[in-house]
Amino acid sequence: MSTIVWFHAHPDDEAILTGGSMLRAAEEGHRNVLVVATNGDFGEVPADLGPGETLVERRRAETTLSAGVLGVARVVWLGYADSGMTGWEQNGRVESFLQAGLDEAAERLALVLREEESTVLVSYDWHGNYGHPDHIKVHQVGRRAAELARTSHLFEATFNRDRLQAMAEVINRLAPVEGQDRVDFEGDTDDGVPLGMPETELTHEVDVVRFAGSKRAAVSAHRSQVSDTSFLLRMSDEHFAGAFGTEWFIKLGMAAGLQRRWILDPS
Ligand SMILES: [Zn+2]
Repeated sequence: MSTIVWFHAHPDDEAILTGGSMLRAAEEGHRNVLVVATNGDFGEVPADLGPGETLVERRRAETTLSAGVLGVARVVWLGYADSGMTGWEQNGRVESFLQAGLDEAAERLALVLREEESTVLVSYDWHGNYGHPDHIKVHQVGRRAAELARTSHLFEATFNRDRLQAMAEVINRLAPVEGQDRVDFEGDTDDGVPLGMPETELTHEVDVVRFAGSKRAAVSAHRSQVSDTSFLLRMSDEHFAGAFGTEWFIKLGMAAGLQRRWILDPS
């Protein structure tokens, strides 16, 4: 059995990006450890916060719920502040993840890898899927932590840009999502680079269709983040499974060439 450390930028990224693979790992009896870099303190503030309740408390509670659905055995919070999108003033705050020293943050992640005796780390592609500064930092910190802890298997979670855009065109043509002009996975990213990575640069395509219902339940646990999650939750079950029933990874050190295989298959 393996222990997989899943390193994510904000509460809710785990469900959207790697939820199906986490479910599959748990079902096979592996240990899932979720490490969340930031507190998600610049997320949407829900109208129903209780007296004295903070957004960070709400988001941690939602993450506990999501982690329960996804079969996560341990959640570790690195506790950095969100950096916000590119150019936001909070990018410069000393407590932000963006301002954290690379080695300092990586050492904290490496500590978890060592404690867990984990040989598998999952982080993000080089532009953090859509260019959010915290996501890019996850990529950088993941690489460095894998070096520090001598982690044998580093996977970078991503989206298959070509596949998602083809799917968006089908949805726009056949079943437009209510309240959405058109689904477009290519525009509207933070760094101007289209979402995810081209198919030619990927190594692993993991079929998680049978976990789509639970993945959707984990996404909906993050109820306070309406703008991140509501579009996904307005899709029909069928289209959700079509768009999010596959997860993609780039394995570091492996020649590119996309194959349908599981991240724990011997390579
Ligand atoms: Zn995020």
